[in-house]
Amino acid sequence: MTEPSTAPRTALVTGAAGFIGYHLCRRLLEDGFRVIGLDSLNDYYDVALKDRRRAMLMQSDGFSFVHAKIEEPGLLMGLMADERPDVVVHLAAQAGVRYSIDQPRAYLEANLIGAFELLEAARAYPPQHMLMASTSSVYGANTEMPYAETAKADSQMSFYAATKKANEAMAHSYAHLYGLPITMFRFFTVYGPWGRPDMALFKFTKAILEGAPIDVFNHGDMQRDFTYVEDLVHGIRLLIDAAPVRPESAESIAPGDSLSAVAPWRVVNIGNSEPVQLMDFIRAIETATGRSATLNMMPMQAGDVPATWADGALLQALTGYSPRTAVPEGVARFVAWYRDYFQA
Ligand code: NAD
Repeated sequence: MTEPSTAPRTALVTGAAGFIGYHLCRRLLEDGFRVIGLDSLNDYYDVALKDRRRAMLMQSDGFSFVHAKIEEPGLLMGLMADERPDVVVHLAAQAGVRYSIDQPRAYLEANLIGAFELLEAARAYPPQHMLMASTSSVYGANTEMPYAETAKADSQMSFYAATKKANEAMAHSYAHLYGLPITMFRFFTVYGPWGRPDMALFKFTKAILEGAPIDVFNHGDMQRDFTYVEDLVHGIRLLIDAAPVRPESAESIAPGDSLSAVAPWRVVNIGNSEPVQLMDFIRAIETATGRSATLNMMPMQAGDVPATWADGALLQALTGYSPRTAVPEGVARFVAWYRDYFQA
């Protein structure tokens, strides 16, 4: 009888120097994975921040880094052939709703061509489980709340959301045709230490500490299901070990069956399931910084939606996950990190 392997599992994490990628790599390294992190370190925001995250990860023996663009032809194919990862977590993307209004090509290249290159590499060298980031933005503006994964979600409001929705369709077809086990996450406004300079918490904290005004869209009438990054990473970690399987009954597809029912495939929300009013979020930053915000009330931005709210029932049923961090606590941790990092 052969002994079960005790070799560490290998994870390939794309977007490893990004906000979520950094936290996920740390968690996987703590859990004994060998981690290959890939990132282009692009200049969408402060490259020094990405480089610091990368440098922090490089301190772990189990971590190696590949500096490359995912859409580079053959790059991921070669990497997967050499490394044969057990798990792939795909986080590299051109993120951000607002930037996609002026720079759609960046989304085409990273999110569509990049995802295609990854799917092709996974077809040739199948991991045990591939997990890919989508977004709450795919729900658009006319989905009933809380957003359930079964909602139709067919009217994307930005090109960013459109590329992510397309990723879901592309990945589904690979799960179905080639039997690749794929989980697609829909993340809801993630925040926390090492967070993104283009997102509200970072911008608001910076402005409040500098005494500058903050732009408050839709005159403050916004709700977001803010999700603390460590909670999100915990959800990802649990899902890694819960790969979808093709159901036994999947031999034939009857008219009217959902194709999703027959592929080793799943779409899962990871959110806090407790939406917070934007003005309450701003108050939490005021409390954490000990300063008052100067508000510059603005109309709704094109591409944005007034509210998001995750239905967390599927993730809970699959993994037992429930979020642990309330917004005031998570915001205080971000502000403490920000002050320390920028000596502000
Ligand atoms: P991020 O921008 O901090 O991380 C993405 C990383 O991918 C960056 O480090 C970037 O340099 C890298 N990257 C971009 N294009 C690349 C390319 N072509 N090749 C290689 N690397 C590339 O963003 P994040 O907040 O960590 O988001 C991670 C994922 O989660 C993204 O797919 C994003 O769309 C998704 N998401 C994030 C949120 C959120 O609130 N942060 C919400 C929903 C979905």
